[in-house]
Amino acid sequence: MKIIDTHCHIYLEEFDADRDAVLSRAEMAGVGHILCPAIDSRTHQRMHEVCRSSGGKLVAMMGLHPTSVKENFQEELKIVEEYLSKHQYIAIGEVGIDLYWDTTHIQEQEEAFLIQARWAASMGIPVVIHSRNSMKHLLDLLETNRIEYLTGVFHCFSGTVEEALRVVELGFYLGIGGPLTYKKSTLPDVIKQIPQQRIVLETDAPYLPPVPHRGKRNEPSYLSYIVQHLAQHWETSEEEARHITTSNAHQLFQLS
Ligand SMILES: [Zn+2]
Repeated sequence: MKIIDTHCHIYLEEFDADRDAVLSRAEMAGVGHILCPAIDSRTHQRMHEVCRSSGGKLVAMMGLHPTSVKENFQEELKIVEEYLSKHQYIAIGEVGIDLYWDTTHIQEQEEAFLIQARWAASMGIPVVIHSRNSMKHLLDLLETNRIEYLTGVFHCFSGTVEEALRVVELGFYLGIGGPLTYKKSTLPDVIKQIPQQRIVLETDAPYLPPVPHRGKRNEPSYLSYIVQHLAQHWETSEEEARHITTSNAHQLFQLS
């Protein structure tokens, strides 16, 4: 059973020297589709180029990343909107709020997130949410601004059991990646208490590599370590964990 990397920045320059080798290792590891979240206008073009030349294996999203939301975010959003009107995308992402790097533009981040979430709902595609140090903030925001027909995934979910249950209640999914394999991770408790149908796999490559590759560049083939861990925590076979997470990703992203 093929597995799906629902969050991978394979188009970044970290992979320019050996992207083909990385992609063939992914193929060998049984990785099928690789979904690529956008960042901002500095990288939209290279994302499209890399996805276009992949024969359908790499699938692009479109959106403005919260760490790229500055004074000029309206201009950046215009660019996103333009792309959305011209091409088909699997999701709007990655979007959200990041209170780890810089909290100066928190209001702009909120505004940009809600605008893009409404676009996603009206287009009938999911949002891919970045929630670094802002899980509670985003959940509150989504609960007070109920956006009809909106669904999506909290990519690299890192919250508590209670927060995970709120994610599920909102109709969203949890993106689970490398941190599941870390010794001190609280994710094993979280994943046991939410429905298996709400979990999708991701690497977030080149970031957040799983054990035993911590400290190095992450890549999509390492998704196999993550699904192994998931199977252990679910006390099921790896094949079953592959099957469940792939069908969840198909469900959420309407992959053909
Ligand atoms: Zn990302």
